[in-house]
Amino acid sequence: MPRYLLALDQGTTSSRAIVFDESGAPVATAQREFPQHFPQPGWVEHDPLDIWQTQRDTAAEALRSAKISARDLAALGLTNQRETTVVWDRATGQPIYNAIVWQDRRTADACAALAKDIPADWLRARTGLRLDPYFSATKIVWLLDHVPGARARAERGELAFGTVDAWLLWQLTGGRVHATDPTNAARTLLFNIHSGQWDDDLLARFRIPRALLPEVRPSSGSFGEVSAVDELRGVPILGVAGDQQAALFGQACFQPGQAKITYGTGCFMLLQTGDQPAESRHGLLTTPACALAGRAQFALEGSVFIGGALIQWLRDSLQFIKNAAEVEPLAASVPDTGGVYFVPAFAGLGAPHWDAYARGSVFGLTRGTTKAHLARAALEAIAFQNNDVLEAMQADAAHPLRELRVDGGASANALLMQFQADLLGVPVERPRVSETTALGAAFLAGLAAKIWPDASALATHWQVDRVFTPQRSRDEMAARVRRWREAVKRSAGWETNSA
Ligand code: ADP
Repeated sequence: MPRYLLALDQGTTSSRAIVFDESGAPVATAQREFPQHFPQPGWVEHDPLDIWQTQRDTAAEALRSAKISARDLAALGLTNQRETTVVWDRATGQPIYNAIVWQDRRTADACAALAKDIPADWLRARTGLRLDPYFSATKIVWLLDHVPGARARAERGELAFGTVDAWLLWQLTGGRVHATDPTNAARTLLFNIHSGQWDDDLLARFRIPRALLPEVRPSSGSFGEVSAVDELRGVPILGVAGDQQAALFGQACFQPGQAKITYGTGCFMLLQTGDQPAESRHGLLTTPACALAGRAQFALEGSVFIGGALIQWLRDSLQFIKNAAEVEPLAASVPDTGGVYFVPAFAGLGAPHWDAYARGSVFGLTRGTTKAHLARAALEAIAFQNNDVLEAMQADAAHPLRELRVDGGASANALLMQFQADLLGVPVERPRVSETTALGAAFLAGLAAKIWPDASALATHWQVDRVFTPQRSRDEMAARVRRWREAVKRSAGWETNSA
């Protein structure tokens, strides 16, 4: 009986493939980067064929290095960069244009124009989202209106749209399956999170033909089988989810009140809210979470633009450190920040502040301030920002935060994790398997393959590496948060004030 699972993790800068065994332990990994295209300022594109080629190559390489073949695989699970938009020809499988990546801002003006006709509350109630170039809808419209003949061909049913999951499913199955899952569909602005279906009113508002859209199937269940890759021929595809939701699932956050933060370039937070969507009054997103067939699950989502990127900036622009890991001993060489607060609003501030005009600032400098104080204040700033988002999430959700699970590059930093626990007043748990996104895809596929009977069986495969328990008093932390909020207030609106 085949006992291995293959997870494909298609990210923004690289494609990865990881083989997991039935205990949820990674056995082999392969990774390939692919080119990023920046045709104009603010534009970001990928060649969809590069995405496919690198994903296919890493899958074959991971099987080779695990010394197994397709026969040993119970199933394949797929997770992916979200929102990135591909439109292709149904007859040839050829993309009509490059993929427009989630970071791409070319449709900012189009969004501003649409905002006059589409009420924000109406949109948020249906989709859980804000009208923003980040999401797929206006990227699709751009392709239909800028690629000659595309709109007419879309109306005739000759073209297919997909986020990266649907594009890869189409390729893996040799064009037999055109499908996506709710966690990806819900990033398009075309999906009604309450009905779990594409929404005709939304399609009409954005002028997008329904004939373009993939079928929406549950995240854990059949998406066909691989036919187009020799090494994987016949392997059933049984799990699909967007990367952040896959990470929430891979962190075994199945109960309302459980949350995860991924500490990468930015920080991505999801709080599981159970079978009812929580509408945000604080500028957060409401999104489906991974669920088994017949059960809807929801999460609140918030992100911090500058997380680990602040440490990169200390390293590359200020040359305080040679590598990211050095920030921890540097920060630990002083007992506190010496009263320094660092507001990393390099690109404005996101949730819950939403101030595009805030700019980075440092407060409380004295003659005694050293690199070490600044490094420590930078780490604390990452945690303060996450604390603001999580506080907003708790105000929106009925459930108190019970525990926080962490992953991503900067979760290696123990000083940061300890400060995060102190601030939040809840334990911060770092798992042994740091590849939680891929593990989430493997979990979804393994559940449908009956490798595991149910989600509670998965919870036993999630193993903790280290727990950081709160050590400082709530009063002390509340006083620190008040100072941080004062610093945020004084950074607000800087860009307009300077004009
Ligand atoms: P991404 O997927 O966004 O590229 P990763 O999960 O690979 O991010 O994490 C990389 C980020 O983590 C970088 O921004 C880096 O500065 C930060 N980072 C890595 N190690 C540490 C560390 N020990 N302390 C603080 N930040 C770190």
